[in-house]
Amino acid sequence: MDLKNYVASVKDFPKKGIIFRDITTLMNDGEAYKYATEQIVQFAKDKQVDLVVGPEARGFIFGCPVSYALGIGFVPVRKPKKLPRETIEYSYDLEYGSNTLCMHKDAIKPGQRVLIVDDLLATGGTMEATIKMVEQLGGVVAGLAFLIELEDLKGREKLKDYPVLTLMKY
Ligand code: 5GP
Repeated sequence: MDLKNYVASVKDFPKKGIIFRDITTLMNDGEAYKYATEQIVQFAKDKQVDLVVGPEARGFIFGCPVSYALGIGFVPVRKPKKLPRETIEYSYDLEYGSNTLCMHKDAIKPGQRVLIVDDLLATGGTMEATIKMVEQLGGVVAGLAFLIELEDLKGREKLKDYPVLTLMKY
């Protein structure tokens, strides 16, 4: 199945000059959504994964069905002030300003093997922040999976130490 047929490319969203890769059209198609999920499940199969971690919000959409299929738990990574209990956080720089992500402090036990899932790899900032938090809690990052990789932004260079799966490249 060619998953690119199910991605909508939207010009000038969210601002002029950006082509936004919209995966809601892929989610809208049951077969494509299932196929994409299954590719990630296959990637995880030999990695003895204990938990799936996904950044909000699109990391939930693909991370949760993967954790369900593997019969393991799911840990949400969220923006500040969304998680109700004690959290750890990690801030990283954006082109203009910065971004902070949070995770519950007790979400991962030392030694647990983690698969991180998100919809899209751009600069790699979101994934790098997520990796740092997983490792701070003593988790072992067993793999990283994305539907889409924007190759020009070279996010993969930040992820050299880990097995990476991307289902589509632009
Ligand atoms: P990064 O941190 O790698 O620069 O950006 C990746 C994050 O931004 C992902 O969580 C992803 O959901 C979001 N993102 C950035 N650009 C796009 C895009 O064109 N399409 C989608 N679906 N998400 C994007």
